[in-house]
Amino acid sequence: MRPVPSALVFTDLDGTLLDHGTYDPGPARPVLVRLRASGVPVIPVTSKTRAEMGPLGAALGLDGPFIVENGAAVLFPEGMDGGVEPLEPLGRFTAFRFGRPYSEARAFLASLPAGAVRGFGDMDAAEAARRTGLTAGEAALAIQRDFTEPFLLEGGGIERVRAAAAEAGFKVLEGGRFFHLVGEGQDKGRAVAWLMQRWGGGAPTLGLGDSPNDFDFLRVVDRPVLVRRPDGRHAAGFDHPRLMRAEGVGPAGWAEAVLQLLPGWSGIEA
Ligand SMILES: [Mg+2]
Repeated sequence: MRPVPSALVFTDLDGTLLDHGTYDPGPARPVLVRLRASGVPVIPVTSKTRAEMGPLGAALGLDGPFIVENGAAVLFPEGMDGGVEPLEPLGRFTAFRFGRPYSEARAFLASLPAGAVRGFGDMDAAEAARRTGLTAGEAALAIQRDFTEPFLLEGGGIERVRAAAAEAGFKVLEGGRFFHLVGEGQDKGRAVAWLMQRWGGGAPTLGLGDSPNDFDFLRVVDRPVLVRRPDGRHAAGFDHPRLMRAEGVGPAGWAEAVLQLLPGWSGIEA
């Protein structure tokens, strides 16, 4: 039997565990090392893809489960699923899926009037890089998708796309640069709740984020934390009786909150 961890840490990446500008965990890095030594899983909850998470997880020393494509699936590296069922194979991972297959997202976008939208699937890595600000290498990983599709509006309004998406069993999320077509049954909170119940063994949970697209999963953890955004503010519009607003921006706030909250209730050495 896998030992039950003393706590679980669910975290957004961009602007939370990773600095918005440098993409580095900075002051959070030594805290990650301590959590790893204490057997506390740090579980990314991200809009990123399976392909993007491979090198990123390795760079951060995160080898446990993670939640990809805005709650579309929980992925477990080999040997890490703890016997949870039912899972399906996905590359070198096993997965529990809430989202719909990428081919269905593409088929829906193809059903819209010609020229209405342009998705990652219509772009090569060079174009995706130009439109996102990612490097060509990063963009090549971002366009390898399993579930959801980022897209730009090319003509017409978003409301018609939203209505057609709802008819077809999808919903549209609004990101910084792109809209995201996702399955109607997926959200980050649902994936985090599933992992807590099915894999977490009742361990207490901490969740950290920086923006409204994190609220879904911050709502389901025991202790939600908002870190400051690069402009020094906390995301507005989230209320919770145990919410901590960290002083630090991004990873500085992440490190501060984990060190302040975890020792008291998880047995982690301060
Ligand atoms: Mg973020």
